[in-house]
Amino acid sequence: MREEMINLIKLQEIDLKILAIDRAKEEFPESLKEAEEALAQKQKEYEALENEIEELQFKRRKFEEELEQEYQRLKKSQTRLMEVKAQREYQALLKEIEEIKKVNKQREEELLQMMERIETLHKEKEKLREEISALEKKVAEEREKYEARRAELDKQREAIWQERESIAVKIPANLLKRYEFVKSRRNGLAVVPVNDAICDGCHMNIPPQLYNELQRDDRVYECPICQRIIFFKKAYADILSGDENPESSPGKKGKS
Ligand SMILES: [Zn+2]
Repeated sequence: MREEMINLIKLQEIDLKILAIDRAKEEFPESLKEAEEALAQKQKEYEALENEIEELQFKRRKFEEELEQEYQRLKKSQTRLMEVKAQREYQALLKEIEEIKKVNKQREEELLQMMERIETLHKEKEKLREEISALEKKVAEEREKYEARRAELDKQREAIWQERESIAVKIPANLLKRYEFVKSRRNGLAVVPVNDAICDGCHMNIPPQLYNELQRDDRVYECPICQRIIFFKKAYADILSGDENPESSPGKKGKS
């Protein structure tokens, strides 16, 4: 009977390791996803910036053409100024020239602002391009890391699985079935130690009589509260792996 319990305890330890591996395998895509999302976001910003620059440049060219036309108009007016004789016409033309000059000065300032804005946007674009290439590198690295880690975890799982099989065959079928059933209902944890009359699975006190029996013989008992298979911790201290394995305990997301 003690042998049965030992095998159950070992099987539970192995299954917790397998659970931790499976969880670790699920965890990786999250970091990769984050990097990919960050990259997609920056690419979107880059595209928007390119569109803005293109629009501004189109506007600038139009503005320059208009300004050029105004320069021509100014030139014509200045030429005509030499030709007019009538004082009144001369005055009117002079006023018109001043007006054109004034408006052109405003346009020149606007054009300058536009060019400065384009320059700023170009700098932003350059900065974004650098950020994007850094993110692309990060995504590639994350993916590589993820794939390598997955391969490593698969290898680990396979080795552990073989170990599991070698132990599982030693456990009577009905007991194994019970173990699997409890495990599926109790978040992967079916076999737990009892220490100081407290079940390590549900952390409740087990009845004194059951606790006495548990200490006395090696039969397979279950916790009356959580139905997990229980064993007296001190009696199996020699086969329990040293650490309590808090990282692989179910309910917590173990990082490895
Ligand atoms: Zn319990």
